[in-house]
Amino acid sequence: MSDAAAVLEAVEVSPRRELVATGQQERLTARRDAAHATVVRVGDVAIGGDRPMVIAGPCSVESREQLLAAAEGVKAAGATMLRGGAYKPRTSPYDFQGLGLEALLILREVSERTGLPVVSEVMSTEDIEVVSEHVDMLQVGARNMQNFALLRRLGMVRRPVLLKRNPAATVKEWLLAAEYILAGGNDQVVLCERGIRSYDPELRNTFDIGGMVLAKMMTHLPVIADPSHATGRRDLIPALSRAALAAGADGLIVEVHPQPEQALSDGAQSLNLQDFAAMMHNLPLPIGAPVRSRAS
Ligand code: PEP
Ligand code: MN
Repeated sequence: MSDAAAVLEAVEVSPRRELVATGQQERLTARRDAAHATVVRVGDVAIGGDRPMVIAGPCSVESREQLLAAAEGVKAAGATMLRGGAYKPRTSPYDFQGLGLEALLILREVSERTGLPVVSEVMSTEDIEVVSEHVDMLQVGARNMQNFALLRRLGMVRRPVLLKRNPAATVKEWLLAAEYILAGGNDQVVLCERGIRSYDPELRNTFDIGGMVLAKMMTHLPVIADPSHATGRRDLIPALSRAALAAGADGLIVEVHPQPEQALSDGAQSLNLQDFAAMMHNLPLPIGAPVRSRAS
């Protein structure tokens, strides 16, 4: 067989070729029936199981003391996973860009001390290896939802992925972005609705609760809500969190900072520890406890 024929034969059997051939695009992400639901496990935490779960922590890792205080506070309030950005996608190049590797080392240490698995963002294919070494779940930020090179590489890693919705993406585009990761062989994907672009300057984004529910109907993957980026305002977070869980979200990811007014990023949409604890206390559903082991 000539080289060209061999290449064509390989293309014939690749999953991508099949996608094109059948015309059915959400082959791997589509929900087959009401009982079809994927549970994604991050360490000992289940996302998409019987109970919703809560991820909390600062927008950016700023120091060891800041992250440890945040982690201990959110754990005491019932969060079962920690968030913290190391590589930050900032709208302005002059804003704080994250501590990079130093932040990853802090995340690892604080995760081991508190037992909370951590999620942190990968901004490019180059970050995947180093971020995977230090954290338990890789976040694809809203701005990168259709970075297809990044999605393809994440299909090949053995780490769960949190895929945020781009503020201008349709639900279908969001699911097709997840499809890239599943088509590459990684089925551990959690979707996150974090608000879409709208016209009201009082709100950073508009929480698309209908889109979140539609995504839950269309896919078997877990869907969580980010009430911080969805509004840009900490005073709206408790009500939106209750609404998201009442509508069937599999969890929340909330920005929490020990001193939000001093935060280097997203302070206005971060709760302090006391307000986060009060919010957790008033959620409409019981929040999931960590599962005991991956096998259970
Ligand atoms: C974040 O989680 O801090 C973040 C940058 O989120 P998004 O990509 O949704 O804007
Ligand atoms: Mn943020």
